[in-house]
Amino acid sequence: MAEKSLAERDQALIWHPYTQMQNAAAPIPIIRGEGVFLYAEDGKKYLDAISSWWVNIHGHSHPYIAKKVSEQLNRLEHVIFAGFTHPGAVELAERLINILPNNQAKVFYSDNGSTAVEVALKMCFQFWSNQGMEKTKVLAFNNSYHGDTFGAMAVSARSAFTRPFDKLLFEVEFIDLPNQDNIEQLKKQISSLKTDLSVFIFEPLVQGAGGMQMYEAQHLDELIKHCRKENILTIADEVMTGFGRTGRLFASNYLIEKSDLMCFSKGLTGGTMALGITTCSKAIYDAFLSDDKLKTLFHGHSFTANPIACASALASMDLLLEPETEQNLHRIEMKHKDFAAKIISHKKVKCIRQTGTILALEWETFAETSYFNSLRDNLYNFFLDQGIILRPLGNIIYIMPPYCIKNEDLDYIYTKIEEALERF
Ligand code: PMP
Repeated sequence: MAEKSLAERDQALIWHPYTQMQNAAAPIPIIRGEGVFLYAEDGKKYLDAISSWWVNIHGHSHPYIAKKVSEQLNRLEHVIFAGFTHPGAVELAERLINILPNNQAKVFYSDNGSTAVEVALKMCFQFWSNQGMEKTKVLAFNNSYHGDTFGAMAVSARSAFTRPFDKLLFEVEFIDLPNQDNIEQLKKQISSLKTDLSVFIFEPLVQGAGGMQMYEAQHLDELIKHCRKENILTIADEVMTGFGRTGRLFASNYLIEKSDLMCFSKGLTGGTMALGITTCSKAIYDAFLSDDKLKTLFHGHSFTANPIACASALASMDLLLEPETEQNLHRIEMKHKDFAAKIISHKKVKCIRQTGTILALEWETFAETSYFNSLRDNLYNFFLDQGIILRPLGNIIYIMPPYCIKNEDLDYIYTKIEEALERF
């Protein structure tokens, strides 16, 4: 009997994320990665135009990160992080605080983007309760996405993905993204809700999973400022936007106003290891200092501040801060701009938008669109056939490449998008 393939063995046992297993295509077995390319078992190579769910910023199997991780593995793989510490966690905290907006004072480790958000929310709720105030309502944007665990899901937009759980999610007030025309009305809306509102959580400048919706720093600044005036805390969820993605180190660097808390994951380790970080201002931290043990933040994960994850984050930060990376961010931004200008008037291009290294294109479908329509699958499969991994969000395709992508590889993606525009 013939030996089973990797895909067959996978299908026999594994339940994949965001996948209807009844009719899912066989998963593509990837056995090696190098730079922007992933290599499949059958020898086909794929250009990873979405940085493997937005995590990979320096390319796959980066030799420098691999070296640092391997050295760390031989030194210390893990240690409980309550009552203990290790050099990597300390150095990473020091170096991160050094490059964050200067009100960020303390670093709390967890292990993914959703947990970074959970921690931030718990810090906010308990910030108020430690001071004898019950403020439990959250303010978030329509279309937002902050993760798939229950708290993170609660502060994300209600959608087809949350429907089975909607009744279980805590109360959140959703407002529109701000613009020139609605900003005053949004501020009024916030003021009318203020007594209950504990915190405002947002994805700064770009809403990722909500379809790469983009909005202006100046309007976000106004909302943050208004929240501060109304005694509402603010969380900048930089899980997707952090570490260069928007052209600057953090999307918050485009803002004048500073958020009380920030969340990080994805690019933090260069996409090598699972790690989450929540940072906060001194005022948040101080609200937990007490002789009363009940005012402690009772939260922690087994793999909190895992030394290997910290080593990959430190290595990734070394690469991120090299002048070459800054040049790459600029180069990708310029290339995207030129391409956007070239196709903007194509009849199938409903809208094209860009922030830093993210280019999003909304497909004109001339019909009702949804995440589940066939255009999405047709586009996904078309690009896969062409050896490009692009995962459209409904009728929106986007490029979010590792920063080391070469011009010729960007050109290849652009050419294939032009072909797709003619075809679908
Ligand atoms: N926040 C934002 C803005 C995200 O884009 C994501 C993931 N796409 C998350 C949080 C959740 O991160 P994770 O998938 O690591 O739980």
